[in-house]
Amino acid sequence: MDKMEFESILLPGVDDKRPIVIAGPCSAETEEQVMTTAKQLADRGIKIFRAGIWKPRTRPGAFEGVGSEGLRWLQRVKKETGMYTATEVATAKHVAEAIKYGVDILWIGARTTVNPFAIQEIADALEGCDKPILIKNPVNPDIELWIGAIERLYKAGVRKLGVIHRGFSSSDKKIYRNSPQWHIPIELRRRFPNLPMFCDPSHIGGKRELVAPISQQSMDLNFDGLIIESHCDPDCAWSDKDQQVTPDILDYILNLLVIREGETQTTESLGELRKQIDELDDQLVELLSKRMRVSREIGTFKKEHNMQVLQASRYSQILEGRIQQAEKFGIDGDCMQKILEAIHEESVRQQIEILNQN
Ligand code: PEP
Ligand code: MN
Repeated sequence: MDKMEFESILLPGVDDKRPIVIAGPCSAETEEQVMTTAKQLADRGIKIFRAGIWKPRTRPGAFEGVGSEGLRWLQRVKKETGMYTATEVATAKHVAEAIKYGVDILWIGARTTVNPFAIQEIADALEGCDKPILIKNPVNPDIELWIGAIERLYKAGVRKLGVIHRGFSSSDKKIYRNSPQWHIPIELRRRFPNLPMFCDPSHIGGKRELVAPISQQSMDLNFDGLIIESHCDPDCAWSDKDQQVTPDILDYILNLLVIREGETQTTESLGELRKQIDELDDQLVELLSKRMRVSREIGTFKKEHNMQVLQASRYSQILEGRIQQAEKFGIDGDCMQKILEAIHEESVRQQIEILNQN
């Protein structure tokens, strides 16, 4: 696709100062819960109110959202607090309803972004729509699928586009509900520097205590905004209660954020340090290519002696030794393991190539 040119998603009266904040409950539950939460948020300076009206739930029978009735409550929020409103859409019918009731910003959920048919249906329904649309990452860590969704909407003429990083589904839920895998949004930013990027610390963390540190991390990675779940009485929330914070706590979290300067303020010493990083990266690539050369020689040896490429005990020896060594230098063991696995995979690929040469 040709280069995409995006238009600003900022609505009148919303400051472009980082972070742009969208806050509100996971789900609209009752008119009273929506109005109470909205008023508390508006009093604390929040300008954009979120609430899920149609909820994609993992298992049937869980609370699946109040449906179109809740859209009238969002209209009330807009009228009585002056905040803009945002909700999730997953079908053409949701789009039509949300537009009919004047919702200002629509977002597409992670479980929808995975499905190109669903995205195309939404894109068709949005044809000519001038509202800002935010696209959450797909649940699986596939950047192309995320970009595909952006492209489908862009082709339908939507120009006010942004993305939301909400983490990726993983079997390891020790720390995060959805693992952040920051390298994926970072790569997206590299490819589309002008695409506004929000972080959703609520769905990444899955716990209240993680909202602040994940928000800070996203600010340090130069995200433009945050979408945070906030409920007037989180313990009684009908969905995602463990990760919702009261408007008071939200205010506290936002005030504690340290917003550091972006790219434009590059100082001389930073330039100097970056030069060092570039040189070190050059050396790394050179070293890796030397390692691959040796590995190919081993491949030739294995071929001549009719040995199989993968020697499991040797591989575990390399892994264990290097991980321990890395940890001594303050490098995270899991990170070292990933690097070694990637290097090993490439070595094996190159040796197999040799094996298949005549
Ligand atoms: C939500 O924002 O409440 C939601 C359902 O999020 P996700 O699509 O990230 O699961
Ligand atoms: Mn939620």
